[in-house]
Amino acid sequence: HLAGKTALVTGSTSGIGLGIARAFAAAGANVVLNGFGDAPAIETLRAGIAAEHGVEVRYSAADLTRVDEIETMVADAVEAFGAVDVLVNNAGIQHVAPVHEFPTDKWDLVIALNLSAAFHAMRLVIPGMKAKRWGRIISTASAHALVASPYKAAYVAAKHGIAGLTKTVALEVAESGITVNAISPGYVWTPLVEKQIPATMKARGMTEEQVKRDVLLAAQPTRQFVTVEEIAGLALYLTTDGARNITGALQVIDGGWTAA
Ligand code: NAD
Repeated sequence: HLAGKTALVTGSTSGIGLGIARAFAAAGANVVLNGFGDAPAIETLRAGIAAEHGVEVRYSAADLTRVDEIETMVADAVEAFGAVDVLVNNAGIQHVAPVHEFPTDKWDLVIALNLSAAFHAMRLVIPGMKAKRWGRIISTASAHALVASPYKAAYVAAKHGIAGLTKTVALEVAESGITVNAISPGYVWTPLVEKQIPATMKARGMTEEQVKRDVLLAAQPTRQFVTVEEIAGLALYLTTDGARNITGALQVIDGGWTAA
């Protein structure tokens, strides 16, 4: 259902963003990938998605903590494809420290990437979406858009900020055929999470299953990771015409975490 449309997915060289980019390409969208990583590996990804789904895939190396690079990324996407029809604000990082020791540069970095970048990308794509009277904006928030955990002040503040930004912008564009939503995952099985397991097994003398269940998934009642494919399926649904009345919403997909 996305044939002829263009999706810009930030932070899509890995994890959740990559899963969303693949799902959108499979639905026919041309895609702009963004994120960091090894250049030849990214080129292999880009060419692979394009060949597999017969769509055009471009890559922007923009550092989304920089406003000028966000502006260039969006301008390049519009120049290449004529429009950005679907924007996914997904790039994000974490930093863990008690608030009185939280490095101020890390605070600025997390707020810039996890919150301000979404504001900038939204303000830049909305005029084009309004002109076409169709658009979909989806931000990857987190269970931490609803509840907190200690030592994650910047991340939790930014994700709560995404919730407020999503609701506000949804109201502003509600009559323009544009929906604005956030997806709030619990723990998702991404390379980032997977890589932590061997060290935790060693440090705690636990089996892999014990680490997953009793450490990582302690707060997630299903005791199962959310998968990248599940997030991508939800994001894809939000781009359909059937989802046109879902706007300003936080779509929770967290194995029951925030119900507890
Ligand atoms: P990931 O580390 O696999 O992917 C992050 C992506 O962001 C990568 O493509 C990376 O290159 C990119 N990125 C990092 N800094 C950037 C910058 N300055 N400019 C542009 N791109 C940058 O992580 P993930 O688990 O896929 O997380 C994606 C999003 O999902 C984040 O917003 C994260 O907060 C959110 N999230 C993840 C989980 C989880 O358990 N994995 C849970 C809830 C929410």
